[in-house]
Amino acid sequence: MKESKGNIIIQVAEIDNVGVVANSSGLQEGSIIRNNFRVLQRIPMGHKIALQNIGVGEKIIRYGQTIGYAKGTIPVGGWVNETNIILPDPPDLESIPFPESDKPETMPLEGYTFWGYRNKDGSVGTKNMLGIVTSVQCVAGFTQFIVNRIKKDLLPKFPNVDDVVALNHTYGCGVAINAPAAIIPIKTIQNLATNPNFGDEILVVGLGCEKLRPESLLLQKEGDSEITNIMYMQDESLSGFESLVGQVMKMAETRLEKLNLRKREECPASELVVGMQCGGSDAFSGITANPVVGFATDLIVRAGGSVLFSEVTEVRDAVHLLVPRTINPEVGKALIAEMKWYDDYLARGDADRSANPTPGNKRGGLSNIVEKALGSIVKSGTSPIVDVLKPGEKIRTKGLTFAATPASDFVCGTLQLASGMNMHVFTTGRGTPYGLSMVPVIKVGSNSTLSKRWFDLIDLDAGQIASGEKTIEEMGWELFHLILEVASGTKKVACDKLGLHNDLVLFNPGPVT
Ligand code: CA
Repeated sequence: MKESKGNIIIQVAEIDNVGVVANSSGLQEGSIIRNNFRVLQRIPMGHKIALQNIGVGEKIIRYGQTIGYAKGTIPVGGWVNETNIILPDPPDLESIPFPESDKPETMPLEGYTFWGYRNKDGSVGTKNMLGIVTSVQCVAGFTQFIVNRIKKDLLPKFPNVDDVVALNHTYGCGVAINAPAAIIPIKTIQNLATNPNFGDEILVVGLGCEKLRPESLLLQKEGDSEITNIMYMQDESLSGFESLVGQVMKMAETRLEKLNLRKREECPASELVVGMQCGGSDAFSGITANPVVGFATDLIVRAGGSVLFSEVTEVRDAVHLLVPRTINPEVGKALIAEMKWYDDYLARGDADRSANPTPGNKRGGLSNIVEKALGSIVKSGTSPIVDVLKPGEKIRTKGLTFAATPASDFVCGTLQLASGMNMHVFTTGRGTPYGLSMVPVIKVGSNSTLSKRWFDLIDLDAGQIASGEKTIEEMGWELFHLILEVASGTKKVACDKLGLHNDLVLFNPGPVT
């Protein structure tokens, strides 16, 4: 048999019995692969082909790991997809061994800096924003009105301020505020208010009668009185809409004056807090974009910075590979505890992990959650995991932290913002216009077909790895440098240029009343 030209099949580990089709036209029926077998049917780009005969019930191996078992016999050259794979059981949380001792120090990377806004608490911003925090969803229409008015009337007078954003959400009243799970949305709103990009000049707009008290959202600073930071719409001294507007505009102007004085200064790369996330993934995400992110993760950690990786439902099936990377049993146990919490949360809702992946993931070649998880955790690189955060908690330690969040894109992004991220990297294979106004979001495309079609929506094309034009190492460095440039404000990301900014979405696992 003679090899048919132009076919690219990516096999990650030697023991893999499936490969991923990399050429954009897919594989044609009858094509000859590796001079020894024939493609049995047309297989689309990103999908898997059997590289050997796989018997009923035998393991299907990708990334050197079992992603499932064959439902029937799959002949070599056959298409392997969600219809002929049985989902394996998730790793048993009780039997994962914990690491025995502290992990060795990573090799430091010195001399990398970016230009950021240094805050009084030591954190560093990458944007200079006025944030308007809200205690309840009732005021969202008002705060959006105020944002538009500020943009029109005030912002032009303060050229050093990048933007103004209302942290609108759907919480605050009509919810069981004392339920144990309420801690998650409440912590999230509190911590969002202190994101480094707001320069500690927050403004809270409340209604007055809501359950979530606006005062509880402010960590009181010395010499500050609450009254100067909070505006209540039900304030009885204000009469008529324009007086309400005027009151907030006055408060906003005072803060804009202070924010306008902020200046960028040179800061070490160790001040980066980068949130890594994926969304709209395909089978390439785990071999191109996510490994590039993983390489950059290791560089940031070596430079002394912080990286957050998240998405519990996409970590759960690969957690046996992560626990051994935690720095001590305490961190390992915290990681397991977050998995358990989520198992219970899904069980309460009568759902299980098969709810992920999405139909689009499957069309992109991701057959099940195990395959998705193995490709997803690659974003965490190889660095030791130094800490585990509950949803919405603030980052405590430099290095690689697992910040527990759902995988749902905006819920994860919102929680990472609350944890204090000042830069965001987001990989996608199917394509999503995902964008956040609070921090710059670098979008990495996993395949060149998408990156070329969405040339002005994607910032970096990791598809060049599948085509062999670049290596993971080269693109990892490219992403690291891009992060420093974007954090410095010298380069703008696509979604900031286009103004594509999604709403924040709180994670509320508690009851609504
Ligand atoms: Ca996601």
